Amino acid sequence: MAAALADFDRFAPDAVLVDNTLPDLDGLEAVSQLRERIGNRPIPIVLLSARDDEALIERAFEVGVSDVSLKSLQWTLLSERLLHLVRSARSQAAGASTAQADKAEVPGVEAELAALSRALVQAARDRDAMDPLTGLASRFGFIAAGEERLQPTDSRCSAIVLVNVDRFKRLNETLGPQVGDRALIEVADRLRRAFRHLPEAGLTIGRLASDEFALLFSDLPSAEVVDRIADITFAHLKKPLAFDGLELLLRCSIGLANYPRDADNINDLLARADIALSEAKRRGGNLAVAFDPNMGATVRGNYDMEAALHHALERGEIMLHYQPILEVRTGRISGVEALMRWRRDGRMLQPSDFVPLAEESGLIFRMDEWVISEALQQVRRWQLEGVGLTSISVNINVRHLGQQSLTRTVAKALEATRLDPSTLTLELTESEVMQDVERSLEALNELRAMGVRLALDDFGTGYSSLGYLTQLPVDCLKIDRSFIHDMQELPQQLMVVRGIVALSSALGLPTVAEGVESNEDLKALRRIGCHLVQGYLFTEPLTANDFADWWREALAMSPQPYAGQLEHLLL
Ligand code: C2E
Ligand code: MG
Ligand code: MG
Repeated sequence: MAAALADFDRFAPDAVLVDNTLPDLDGLEAVSQLRERIGNRPIPIVLLSARDDEALIERAFEVGVSDVSLKSLQWTLLSERLLHLVRSARSQAAGASTAQADKAEVPGVEAELAALSRALVQAARDRDAMDPLTGLASRFGFIAAGEERLQPTDSRCSAIVLVNVDRFKRLNETLGPQVGDRALIEVADRLRRAFRHLPEAGLTIGRLASDEFALLFSDLPSAEVVDRIADITFAHLKKPLAFDGLELLLRCSIGLANYPRDADNINDLLARADIALSEAKRRGGNLAVAFDPNMGATVRGNYDMEAALHHALERGEIMLHYQPILEVRTGRISGVEALMRWRRDGRMLQPSDFVPLAEESGLIFRMDEWVISEALQQVRRWQLEGVGLTSISVNINVRHLGQQSLTRTVAKALEATRLDPSTLTLELTESEVMQDVERSLEALNELRAMGVRLALDDFGTGYSSLGYLTQLPVDCLKIDRSFIHDMQELPQQLMVVRGIVALSSALGLPTVAEGVESNEDLKALRRIGCHLVQGYLFTEPLTANDFADWWREALAMSPQPYAGQLEHLLL
């Protein structure tokens, strides 16, 4: 403030602008000190405030401001007001009326104010062009960069990559906004690091909304490299984040759009990338999807699909496919997982095509209940045919936990089939269970008390705190297939798998590795001590009849019942 007062003496200004938020002083205090110094000279003071606060405005006039202005982009308006105040002050000093004042020439002041106005507009633009949390471009800055970079005459290829952190809202709610902010800062840093080798002119990175990031690549050698960009982005974002003893695994969805193929300007290109992103989310997230002109139709198609899904159960269009789970050491077939399929108009739809919609519309509860009873009946039918399975796993939506209809369905299905309750394993996604552990705990204990077994599915992708893991009444962990998939190429993924197996062994829980596709995977898992495996290496999910055939064939491979399959594959 002392420096400002010294400047005031030195420059003898025509007017003074005071920012209400000063580093070392309250704005109003600054106004008082200035007023004292100005005495009765005709020099207007205008206070700039970020808030439209009546009490503040009142106090400001009390301490002697001539006007209060809100900080905004309307800097031209502010400079006009200043000009008016300077004119009035001067003409009042000269004894003229206010009406004459507005016509008075104020030499030098007009030009100075115009320059000030330009500088303030630029400063505001710069400020608004940057996201203060991450230092990346804001939506405003990103679009401005896009307008500049994508020129209509440009025949080079560019691309927009929209990255959205899956379930960020829940992370923010569960772990608090500070953790949320740190996660976002980390995502921003990783995006910068992922492409740090690119020239600055070739890439703009922005944060467009709370958990939505965008990368604009200009001047790409070919449209094909866009896929590679998505891979690099995933590879950088999937490494766990660690802070305050917490380990977080972020999952992201990516939407891609190409310039000039998909759109010829930045706004349309962003809209196309956004459609692709919604599609990635609709398919369950953790996925990159490139824009396709048919996607608009897909969104409309959702409404038809929801209506059709309502009738699908009654029409017998929903069916189950079965995938075996095997013991790593002995090759014994330990059980089977039931996976839902929808046969619609001659096409077989996968869960990713309709489960998200079923979840949104609440239909998933009826479907899960149907799956439980159908799966247990199927075990009974197989047993009568000589397929001696004694364990079946069924996927359950976590919101179903604690609902009476779930316990009732389980009890009824067990009673109708007269199967032992331990025949049924309910698989619940780890991340969903962790979102409301207290509620989940109660419901899981209730199911456990019925003798049903429980598995944490897609383990490793949630935010499990180890403390909770010891409290949860679960019987098994299923390691997410993304870890198994990358285990061979990424040593840190192998370490995660090893860690999960060691952890669950310490807790006395068997682990199932999902998505085992190769002998190398199997060997690695065997070395690590993983107990159970499931994946295309053995078979894709099969219809009930095909599964019975597969079972008989698998047993025929070895003279001993239940044995041999794995030993055979390991050779
Ligand atoms: P999930 O429970 O983790 O199921 C495993 C998924 O991995 C299945 O996909 C299976 O087909 C696939 N898979 C198995 N082996 C391999 C492999 O070697 N490589 C690869 N890349 N994939 C493999 P699917 O059938 O598409 O199911 C996807 C997800 O949909 C399931 O994940 C589960 O969360 C959900 N889902 C399936 N059936 C139901 C259901 O009846 N109810 C509910 N609520 N969700 C279901
Ligand atoms: Mg499952
Ligand atoms: Mg799984």
